[in-house]
Formats: sequence, C-alpha cells, structure tokens
Amino acid sequence: MKIDGFRGRLISAGHADYDTARAVWNGAVDRHPRLIARCGGTADVAAAVRFARDRDLEIAVRGGGHNVAGTAVCDDGIVIDLSQMRAVAVDPAGRTARVRGGALWSDVDHETQAHGLATTGGIVSHTGVAGLTLGGGIGFLMRRYGLAVDNLLAAEVVTADGDVVRAAADEHPDLFWALRGGGGNFGVVTSFRFALHPLGPTVLAGPVFWAAEDTVDVLRSYRDFAAAAPDELGTVVRLGTVPPLPVIPENLHGRQAIAVACCYSGAVKDGERAVRALRRFRTPLVDLLGPTPYAAFQSGLDDTVRHGWHYYWKSTNLAGLSDATIDVIAEHAYGARSPRSYTAMFHMGGAVARVPHDATAYAGRDVAHNIVIDGVWLPDEAGEHAATETAWARRFLQALQPHRAPGVYVNFLDSDDAPGRVREAYGERTYRRLAEVKAKYDPDNAFHHNKNIRPD
Ligand SMILES: Cc1cc2nc3c(=O)[nH]c(=O)nc-3n(C[C@H](O)[C@H](O)[C@H](O)COP(=O)(O)OP(=O)(O)OC[C@H]3O[C@@H](n4cnc5c(N)ncnc54)[C@H](O)[C@@H]3O)c2cc1C
Repeated sequence: MKIDGFRGRLISAGHADYDTARAVWNGAVDRHPRLIARCGGTADVAAAVRFARDRDLEIAVRGGGHNVAGTAVCDDGIVIDLSQMRAVAVDPAGRTARVRGGALWSDVDHETQAHGLATTGGIVSHTGVAGLTLGGGIGFLMRRYGLAVDNLLAAEVVTADGDVVRAAADEHPDLFWALRGGGGNFGVVTSFRFALHPLGPTVLAGPVFWAAEDTVDVLRSYRDFAAAAPDELGTVVRLGTVPPLPVIPENLHGRQAIAVACCYSGAVKDGERAVRALRRFRTPLVDLLGPTPYAAFQSGLDDTVRHGWHYYWKSTNLAGLSDATIDVIAEHAYGARSPRSYTAMFHMGGAVARVPHDATAYAGRDVAHNIVIDGVWLPDEAGEHAATETAWARRFLQALQPHRAPGVYVNFLDSDDAPGRVREAYGERTYRRLAEVKAKYDPDNAFHHNKNIRPD
C-alpha cells in the first residue's frame, strides 16, 4: 500500500513490527488496524488524513498511546501514528517550548529542565503530551501554573480535510478554545507551543507513607491541610500496596499503605515549611520527601504502571472529603486482589480554579478533588485478576455515588464508560459549544475514535 506524499513508515499485518506498532500502553487492548501510518512530520499527517478520508477509513490518532481505553488504535482502519514525532525545542529567552504531537512528558521535562524551566505535565513521564493536553492536563504544577491547556499558547493542527492550520487566541479562536479540553475531536495536533516557568532543577518532592490502618485519620488531616495549602504545593494521594521501587525500604514492599506525594514548586526551604504539618499526620512508615531533581521525581512512578500490563479504570469528581466520603474510600481502597491495583486522588484548585470557566473547554475547574480507581494486573494474570479488579473498581465507584460531584475528568474514562459520561464530563453548556465547533471543523465526525463529541 502507498500513500501519496507520505514519507514515513507504513506498517500493516505481516510486517515484522506490526504487533509492536499496534500495541498500546494498556495491554488488555488488542486491535488490528489495516494500516499504521508512522508519520515523520506534519506533511505526512496531512497525507495520511487525506488518504483515510478519500477511502472512508476508520481513523485512530496515536500520540503517547497511553489512553486507558486504547483509543489510539482501531480495528480495520488506519492509525495515524505520531510516536516518532517527539522533538521539543525550547526558547529559553521567550520561555516557551514547541513540542511535537507524539512527544512524551519525559521529552518535555528533559529539554525544559536543561534551562531550569518546566510546564504542567502529568505524573507519569511516559504519558503522551498530546492526549493529556487535549483533555485538560492535570499534574503537580497545576495549582501554581494552571492546567496543561492553560499553558498552551498555540497549536498546529491538521484538520479533517487534511488542511494545516494554526490555532491560537488570534487565529481560529473557536478551534483553540475547543482544543483546550475537547480531546482529539477537532483534528490532529502536530505541534504544541507551551508557556514555561522557572523551576528547580531541585525541588522539594516525594511521598510520605502511612499504614493503611491510619487511612481515615490521614485523610481527615489531609482534607484540612489541602484546603489551606499554598498554590506552590501540588499533592496526589495514592492508596494501595506499596510498590517494590528501589527508593522504598524493602520491608515495606507489598504492605498496604496510604501515601501523599508532594511537589513544591517554590524554594526548597519554603517547601519544608509548607509540608511540616503533613509530616505530622500520624507516624509515617517512611518519609521520602526531600530535595529532588524535578525530572527524576516526575518519572518516579513510571515503573508502577508499565507498558503492556492490563488496566481497567473508573473515575469521578468528588463533592469534597466529608467524613462519610473518607469512610467509603478507606473501606474500598484496599479491596483489590492484585497488588498492582491502586487508587489516586488529585488535589485540584489554586490556579486551575482561577481561570474563567468559559475560557477553555476544560470543565471541572471548581472541583477540589477527583479520584481514579485503577485495576492493574499482568497479562498472564488475566484469568485470576481481570474479573476481580474490574468488579472492585466498579464496586468502589458505585459506593462513591452519593459523594460524587457532577462530572469526571474526560482523560480518565475507560472504554466501557457510557457515551453519556463524555457529556457529563463537560456539562451541557460546554458540550453544546464543543458540538458546534465540531460541526465546523469535522462535520462528518471523521475523528470519532476518541471520547467523542458528536457534531451539532
Ligand atoms: C499511567 C498514566 C498516568 C496518567 N496521569 C495523568 C496525569 O497525571 N494527568 C492527566 O491529565 N492525565 C493523566 N493520564 C491520562 C492521560 O491524560 C490520557 O491517558 C491521555 O489520553 C494520554 O495521552 P496520549 O497521547 O498518551 O494518549 P493516546 O492513547 O495516544 O491518545 C489518546 C487520544 O488522544 C487523542 N490524540 C492523541 N494524540 C493526538 C494528536 N497528536 N492530535 C490529536 N489528537 C490526539 C486521540 O483522540 C487519541 O485517541 C494518565 C494516564 C496514564 C495511563
């Protein structure tokens, strides 16, 4: 098969690389595209889109390949694969970075930290920039510098017609608005331009662990601590089995525990003050919070969620951390059978909440905490764990129903979440506005292998 004007690699069934090229982060996803078009640049992406549209092929777009629902790969159609387009070019004087559409957050942190700069990215460094950003982009720096989309200055986009356009505040502003939260619905983003901020390279960061038995007390203290935390302090709570990471004392591996991972984006000595109270929540099992290179901290969790393992997620926004909510979390968080399964809870607020709600398509700016319940097992454990971990995640979400706030972070939805949950993620008004932009830029819904917004 040949694509006119395409200079990248074409991979189809029978090719030696076909099975690796169709694999995504979630090893439970097993789809067989007719063709994988591994693009070298924007022109290749445009050629692949035109080729697919002319033949009415199903289209999947791959950035980092990390979406739990496996939307980066489809059956039978074409995968427009940007995984080789990972360049990051930093303008240190202007404090911006141009990031290609297939880059990972490790690429961004590596290049920007060389200049003592950073921007909000995710908490696992092998996650793709594109999918994460297009859904909103939450991470340790968001309370100080906003979401990934709040740092997005411009994007180069290949539209459903195969045209190349620039979206920014002064060019295609409707498209620019929709790209900042509306996911991969509006075109293929071949590059992003982000604002950068001085950071590190050493920051005060790391987790503090407490025994699972202390969960209720720790979460009650955390609720008050988080409510008063400065914007510089980003925290994520992790509940589950202690992973066997070399930085964690071996005697704790395999034990159930609650951890609060912190990253303070200001001076280390100010950070020490900001976390003093947290260190006194009960007696920690271990306190690993200390001065750390930012890029190393950002990759600290990478090995706990490896490529090719099997995953099943459930997620929701929380109405708050009432005592009753905390009781539900403490009761269910340790109910998984697989030691790899865990639950993560993100503390939002700060700069995220100060951006006007209609400025971008990201919804949920007034949510203080969201939770993602992550069932995880090894490929050869599917018989033992696929059913138990799926049931655990569903049961846990069900128990949280009375404690939910409307909405869910769209990037945490799994493949069995009903289409209504995408609507719920945005809320009615934002969804309708997104559907109008969709009707203008992709009226045939060519880009529908995603958290789909149907054209109005
Ligand atoms: C271990 C792990 C940790 C995570 N942590 C965070 C976190 O801290 N913060 C956070 O916000 N999210 C987080 N996420 C969720 C993450 O944002 C989504 O999984 C996201 O989809 C990943 O982007 P990707 O490019 O790797 O995904 P892919 O699977 O490649 O793409 C997902 C979808 O995004 C769209 N897309 C991808 N690339 C492009 C492109 N270049 N142009 C247009 N559309 C595109 C397509 O619709 C595609 O189907 C995490 C996910 C995982 C698995």
